[in-house]
Amino acid sequence: MSDNFIKGIAASDGIAIAPVYLLTEPDLSFEKQTIEDVDGEVTRLDAALQQATEEITAIRAIAAESLGEEEAQVFDAHLMFLEDPEFTGQIRDVVKNDSVNAEAAMRQVSDMFIAMFSAMEDNPYMQERAADIKDVSERVLAALLGVKLPSPATISEEVIVVAYDLTPSDTAQLNKKYVKAFATDIGGRTSHSAIMARSLEIPAIVGTKEITSQVKDGDLIIVDALDGTVVVNPSQEQVAEYEAKKDAFAKQQAEWAELKDADTVTADGKHIELAANIGTPKDVEGVLNNGAEAVGLYRTEFLYMDSTDFPTEDEQYEAYKTVLESMEGKSVVVRTMDIGGDKELPYLELPEEMNPFLGYRAIRICLDRQDMFKTQLRALLRASVHGQLKIMFPMIATLQEFRQAKAILEEVKQDLLTQGQEVSDSIEVGIMIEIPAAAVLADQFAKEVDFFSIGTNDLIQYSMASDRMNERVSYLYQPYNPSILRLIKNVIDASHAEGKWTGMCGEMAGDQTAVPLLVGMGLDEFSMSASSVLKTRSLMRKLDSKEMEALADKALNECTTAEEVVALVEEAVAKANQ
Ligand code: PEP
Ligand code: MG
Repeated sequence: MSDNFIKGIAASDGIAIAPVYLLTEPDLSFEKQTIEDVDGEVTRLDAALQQATEEITAIRAIAAESLGEEEAQVFDAHLMFLEDPEFTGQIRDVVKNDSVNAEAAMRQVSDMFIAMFSAMEDNPYMQERAADIKDVSERVLAALLGVKLPSPATISEEVIVVAYDLTPSDTAQLNKKYVKAFATDIGGRTSHSAIMARSLEIPAIVGTKEITSQVKDGDLIIVDALDGTVVVNPSQEQVAEYEAKKDAFAKQQAEWAELKDADTVTADGKHIELAANIGTPKDVEGVLNNGAEAVGLYRTEFLYMDSTDFPTEDEQYEAYKTVLESMEGKSVVVRTMDIGGDKELPYLELPEEMNPFLGYRAIRICLDRQDMFKTQLRALLRASVHGQLKIMFPMIATLQEFRQAKAILEEVKQDLLTQGQEVSDSIEVGIMIEIPAAAVLADQFAKEVDFFSIGTNDLIQYSMASDRMNERVSYLYQPYNPSILRLIKNVIDASHAEGKWTGMCGEMAGDQTAVPLLVGMGLDEFSMSASSVLKTRSLMRKLDSKEMEALADKALNECTTAEEVVALVEEAVAKANQ
């Protein structure tokens, strides 16, 4: 391995070569000072306020152009503060009255406003403004200190974004036209930044541990997200080598693309449903372009995360209706809101928790905050007449939780019917299997649910007791470990015994090593990032379902480690490719 290589976890396929755009927290530290020339200091403050206003106006214009007017509106609140004499006047007053430098005055006044807004517990809208004040004051401070702030929304030439981590909302703001790839210090294959990268179809490497400290803004790097390698300041030979690899991958993709309208059948003619995961209605385009047959997981929490307040029933209805209509009668599995873990909602005050992934999240919040849950269910039921809707509850641990969620759904449905609203009468209701307790008790669940969808991202983290965000324990993300395979087999068999079906919407469903095993275990539906659909169809068409059954039996009963399972599958796939 060359010494300009940094290894990470390949999170979204592809290869890119471009300069670095470093998205790191700038150093905005300063000393509080006593000022003699107070008028001069006020002039310096005014110039910084002016500069911040100009910068935000420019960012707003670029964001509106590249991301849309709605995304750009967040900057209006920032401008509003800079134009508010109440806010800027107080900063000037502190400089004048206390004879302190503009930085200290800015910090004092913004801290006061942040504390005031954050304390408005019954007004989430105003609480949200605290974040705006923080952004604005950082921009003014940066202007005072002569520090350049990164602003991803303004990226207008080809770059590779390098960051410690990217939140799902950062990721959503990246303009695919210019952001050719990203690489982060932390995260794993199933962290949400990685999942978003796959739905945006941007190559990504996560969990490099150190990339932010190894590269500078503008350094040329290569992101090879086919095998998880970043090459820093490559030689001409390395650039040529990776250009060739990139071309070969493009050729491979073109071959897969020919299968867009082909059936998903194994070599011996068994049909398997191949679906895709989405986070927003915009992702449906990728689902259709990649020839997926259904939406197997719509992560509705992104609708909540993209908003500054709870989305209203009508806003949700519009989003669900758009997805159902665009899928033209094909099945759409909508998962009710799964906030918590690494998905935060600024306007929903969640308590600080020691273990957010084991805490107050998903269905646990919904059963507690039923007002919010009922709004979502009403929107879903109203939208149900526009397509083939299936509703799925996340993070179910016990049958009581499922029964309670289903009873609330039934109550909402009766209310709507009483009000004369139309609701489809063929909505299947299922659960995600992502907690081992539910996987073990699948035979009991199968009597009451219409379907299961296995969420391996969480199922594996909970089974292995290994945080999916922590790259230090990412070696325990072991989809092929026989223990995980046995849990999965138990779920599939339990559903079939009751005449129900099992899908999988965790990342394992699109994992090319796992696919032969899952086909052999009788998984009915595979739902994955849209970008994995075509290569999976290509693979499935080469597999014989009976041979895969024997392969899965061997993996389940004879293998002791994930490595043994991988060796077994590789041998079988090599044979299928002959
Ligand atoms: C999962 O846990 O596998 C899953 C699909 O849900 P999420 O990744 O959104 O937690
Ligand atoms: Mg999950």
